Amino acid sequence: MKQSPNIKVIENASLKNLNTYKIESKTKYLVTVLNLDGLKEVLSYIKDNNIKYFILGNGSNVILDEYLDGITIKLDGLNNFTIKKNTVICGAGVNMSTLTCKTVNKNLTGLEWAINIPGTVGGSIIGNAGAYNRDIFDNLESIKVIDKDLNIKVLKKEDIIYSYRHTNLKENNYIVIEGTFKLKKGNKEESLLLIKDRTERRKKTQPIGIPSAGSVFRNPPNDHAGRLIENSNLKGKTIGGASVSKKHANFIVNTGNATSKDIKNLIQLIQKEVKEKFNIDLILEQEIIDWK
Ligand SMILES: Cc1cc2nc3c(=O)[nH]c(=O)nc-3n(C[C@H](O)[C@H](O)[C@H](O)COP(=O)(O)OP(=O)(O)OC[C@H]3O[C@@H](n4cnc5c(N)ncnc54)[C@H](O)[C@@H]3O)c2cc1C
Repeated sequence: MKQSPNIKVIENASLKNLNTYKIESKTKYLVTVLNLDGLKEVLSYIKDNNIKYFILGNGSNVILDEYLDGITIKLDGLNNFTIKKNTVICGAGVNMSTLTCKTVNKNLTGLEWAINIPGTVGGSIIGNAGAYNRDIFDNLESIKVIDKDLNIKVLKKEDIIYSYRHTNLKENNYIVIEGTFKLKKGNKEESLLLIKDRTERRKKTQPIGIPSAGSVFRNPPNDHAGRLIENSNLKGKTIGGASVSKKHANFIVNTGNATSKDIKNLIQLIQKEVKEKFNIDLILEQEIIDWK
């Protein structure tokens, strides 16, 4: 895999600073695409050489394996952004908080909930990120995707199957290139107050500033994963460098030198204890990236 004007390539790269758990992980090639041609270039190479690959957004919803023996692709160059009236077109590599700030500044409302989501637009569409009873599909009109044969398609919201923290896009091997959002005319001052309220609420209830990847498990219907974990007496439970947060039981934090294995073992332990106590199977919201 060679560098070109459209891609940056680092061999045997560390992903420690590219995942919010800050766990050590290495990849054979880290390829940062600088534009759409760069993405096509790397996908052609992958197809011709039959290599494993993985799209890494901001790494805020993944548990990376120690070694990814293939190509890890970052979409940093897909950062286009246009606003026309109340329609916003945004590249997959843009951060959710940037999308929120830019739309609020234009007096558009609908994406305030996303201010503290530390992910990219692409990663948030793939996993249908959301908060406070809202999610990204509320305002999404369509997306542009590329498949592994390099076909570019526009998918309307109606073409996509989505539900709570899930879409069928990954199953179809689609890579999100950009999203088109329809927002409503709002009031910047009101949006800023809402953002302030949401931010303070998070600070009070979540272990902000300590490496994690947000909520570990999906909330079961009519319940909260955090409540079930807390009532299983697991707050503070530690395996190696991974601990159940004392502030919010549905967060696992890296207290220093957590490994991928520590986090996965702690997840298994939580699932076992919650099953024994409540007969509920907790479903992982985070994604284990494991190529073995
Ligand atoms: C402190 C904290 C708070 C959080 N709060 C919330 C919250 O309130 N609500 C919520 O929903 N989530 C929350 N999260 C989780 C996370 O931020 C979101 O799930 C986010 O949308 C993930 O985006 P990402 O870019 O980091 O994706 P990554 O973690 O990098 O990737 C996630 C998955 O998406 C795939 N992917 C990424 N980009 C693309 C693309 N362009 N095309 C195809 N596949 C792609 C990856 O291959 C992977 O399978 C939180 C995380 C943290 C650390």
